[in-house]
Amino acid sequence: MFFGLDRKLADPLAWSMILTSALYPTYARADIAFTRGEGAWLYTESGDRYLDFASGVAVLSLGHEHPHLVATLKAAAEKPWHVSNLFRIPQAERLAERLVEATFADVVFFANSGAEAVECAIKTVRKYHAANGQPQRYRLITFEGAFHGRTLATIAAGGNAKYLDGFGPPLDGFDQVPFADLEAVEAAITEETAGVLLEPVQGEGGLRVFPNGFLKELRALCDARGLLMALDEVQSGVGRTGKFLACEHAGVTPDVVALAKGLGGGFPLGACLATREAAKGMTLGTHGSTFGGNPLATAVGGAVLDVVLSEGFLARVASLGGLLRQRLAELHDRHPRVIEAVRGEGLMFGLKTRVPNGDLAAAARAEGLLTVLAGDNVVRLLPPLIIDESHISEACNRLDRACARLAAPAEPLGAA
Ligand SMILES: *Cc1c(COP(=O)(O)O)cnc(C)c1O
Repeated sequence: MFFGLDRKLADPLAWSMILTSALYPTYARADIAFTRGEGAWLYTESGDRYLDFASGVAVLSLGHEHPHLVATLKAAAEKPWHVSNLFRIPQAERLAERLVEATFADVVFFANSGAEAVECAIKTVRKYHAANGQPQRYRLITFEGAFHGRTLATIAAGGNAKYLDGFGPPLDGFDQVPFADLEAVEAAITEETAGVLLEPVQGEGGLRVFPNGFLKELRALCDARGLLMALDEVQSGVGRTGKFLACEHAGVTPDVVALAKGLGGGFPLGACLATREAAKGMTLGTHGSTFGGNPLATAVGGAVLDVVLSEGFLARVASLGGLLRQRLAELHDRHPRVIEAVRGEGLMFGLKTRVPNGDLAAAARAEGLLTVLAGDNVVRLLPPLIIDESHISEACNRLDRACARLAAPAEPLGAA
């Protein structure tokens, strides 16, 4: 299907119109509303069809309207929706057990979003040292390019000036060091340091992958200095990179991990996973959430795991990721004026562009392909994990046409 590229593409606002409505105008929304979804495809009322390599920012792990998720949510809707954490919630107990079985963790706290899961991770790390009689150890070392959410604590952890501006003094307790710089981590450790917090694959920051060797050395450094390693796998977790947790690629065992996005497959659900030792301070009454772990969310989370943890599923994500990497590398070769680099892992890729990233995203959208912008002038490709080879071919053909539209006609690159 062809979507005409009109003059609006030259206008940066074409990518994202500032639409007037009763909503806070905090988002740059594309002027499209979808009425139907099926697998990796989204349809508008007028019947335009888009291949969804945005997945609601890595949330639709099983794509749109997955039959098992729909059936699970329908069944859950006929039972109590919410009982609060004043009572047992069997669906949450079961989901926690399965997360524990699938990972390093011994215990799980459920939240409703990524930022809340990260907040729980931060609190867990701080409280661990308090429980050890060292409450002065509350500081976390974080990394440039990080994104941990939009609450007051998580914008302080992320350290992005754009997100901190105007919101008063940033919450104290975060020391940011350059990306993957072990010496800088070592230099930043003081008697107040409690741990480190990082995304094994930075999502919003521009799909930068921490090298496996760095993660191993960082783990060793944490062990040597009594620090906890907390990973923000809100975007990279739940199979996105071809392993259940991205840190498994490095063979590193963390102490605390935050999950969210893909865990609920579209239903708001976050989780903080920890070893029993790391969570030793999180005792009765120390933390809570009204909605966290409610029956609807945890029933759907369980259905996501039914699929993601099924035999061969993650291996398939990894092999599709290999194919996507290869196809993107070819695209890079064909369009060096548009694409500067391809990076990522599994089904979590970024195209660093030589044109404004919004231009490539807009051109892709004009070709019927949805993507997500990221920092460092990157366009993110985050397809549902249930895609097959044909979706990869289709997406790369559409990207090829989008790049062709953007490539400058004359003037060789590299004159500068
Ligand atoms: C999206 C994201 C968050 C924040 O999640 P919300 O659900 O928006 O609060 C935190 N960390 C990472 C790595 C993310 O990608």
